[in-house]
Amino acid sequence: MRIDLITCLPKLLESPFSDSILKRAQDKGLVEVTVHDLRPFSTNKHHATDDYAYGGGAGMVMMIEPIDRCITALKAKCTYDEVIYMSPDGQLLTQSLANQLSLKKNFIILCGHYKGVDERVREHLVTREISIGNYVLSGGELAAAVLCDSIIRLLPGVLSDETSALTDSFQDGMVAPPVYTRPAEYNGWKVPDVLLSGHGAKIEDWRHEESVNRTKKRRPDLL
Ligand code: SAH
Repeated sequence: MRIDLITCLPKLLESPFSDSILKRAQDKGLVEVTVHDLRPFSTNKHHATDDYAYGGGAGMVMMIEPIDRCITALKAKCTYDEVIYMSPDGQLLTQSLANQLSLKKNFIILCGHYKGVDERVREHLVTREISIGNYVLSGGELAAAVLCDSIIRLLPGVLSDETSALTDSFQDGMVAPPVYTRPAEYNGWKVPDVLLSGHGAKIEDWRHEESVNRTKKRRPDLL
């Protein structure tokens, strides 16, 4: 998988990809993530990537030209399954969407900033728009990092067996059961006996039951 991120603030994307599971996935060669600074694609003498909104009003708008030039340069070297724009009014990111996207190969992800991008970018250059929730962030970088994390952790070989994504919440339409680790008792608070029983089938039954009960209680909308 190859992910090319386009941003006017590349520093914001450094840390999410340089640690833990996302770093390991890149080190293992399972995904190649490249962050592209929009600035060099600006033909403006100050390398500006945004301008005032037509019609007036508060907030700057990201210009189409640098974005188009950057996407065109990327497409000259690679074919992409999707050009995704992170947007609060896009398709809501769910586990099911992450699963679908994890089966594709190459993405461009465009991060907006300020008031967003010139509408013509959305009409002509983008194939899909994704939101990470019904709230507004200052920029698309954190949202893009969330999207990438949700996809990359699903790629075969990224997670070790004990952290298998298949046992996580939402994969089977339910939330995950509770988990415990040592000590078996702390401050008088005990780990459920069944988990210490060593009885595989009983543990599985208990986990399933806990998942069902939790889902009923916390997320009845999933059932
Ligand atoms: N004026 C826009 C918000 C712009 S926020 C509006 O009201 O809809 C600036 C940028 O942050 C957006 O271009 C987008 O890339 C990103 N962004 C903000 N909230 C987001 C969300 N919930 N999901 C994905 N991207 C988001």
